[in-house]
Amino acid sequence: MLRRTLLSALPLVAAKPGLVFSPAAPFPGSPILFQLPAGPASATWLDRPLTFSAEGVALAAVGLEVKPGTVPLTLSGGERHPVPVAPHPYRTGVLKVPPQFVSPPPAVLERIQREAAVKKAVFATRSVRRWKGPFAPPTDTPHTSPFGTRRTYNGKTRSIHQGLDFRAAVGTPVAATHAGEVLLAREMYYEGGFVVLDHGEGLFSLYMHLSGFAVKEGETVEQLQPLGRSGASGRVTGPHLHFGVQWQGLYMEPATLLRLRFPS
Ligand SMILES: [Zn+2]
Repeated sequence: MLRRTLLSALPLVAAKPGLVFSPAAPFPGSPILFQLPAGPASATWLDRPLTFSAEGVALAAVGLEVKPGTVPLTLSGGERHPVPVAPHPYRTGVLKVPPQFVSPPPAVLERIQREAAVKKAVFATRSVRRWKGPFAPPTDTPHTSPFGTRRTYNGKTRSIHQGLDFRAAVGTPVAATHAGEVLLAREMYYEGGFVVLDHGEGLFSLYMHLSGFAVKEGETVEQLQPLGRSGASGRVTGPHLHFGVQWQGLYMEPATLLRLRFPS
């Protein structure tokens, strides 16, 4: 088991009496941790179901496409809590990758389609919550490329960077951000060596470009259990670890997630 410092720096902020959330100024793409004093409850956030645990804790994402303004959290009883969403600047970037990752050769199109269907099925999984408390970084190395950057690949393909990159020489140990079930541990065209963990209630963590696996699909893992080793496989400019976190189809900014303060 790897040992690692869990950073818990961001305070919880009161919206209306009874509901608190963190970070203080949620933004498009940020995670959002809600807390209710009353314990278990259900709610709706961005048209998606949200379940508060016995401790009254629920985690969601503010979608990257959400416009700054006010988004309501609606409790199952109909009570609405307005949550302010602040503007957030994201950068743009230009990357150069091998041409087969921008214009895939016809021979791999079927593979890409097949893998897209596998990912769609995996991300439709809804299971019970497996995590409690803060999320841990998957490696101890510095961040190199932030979440949300609008990228152009080879002057052609445009996409948004839906994760956080960590500097990682090939072979760096990669660990689970939290407890979960291994839904994917296999090679994919764009992702390279790819692990997806299911943390329950539509929350998934993704680890890409790995050079080796320490887990198998179907296994359950504990927080910080080794998942494999970093690499340079798939659509990359060089060796690194791509770490993504998705909640019910919405990707969230991992650096803020790793700094959230969770009630004990
Ligand atoms: Zn990345």
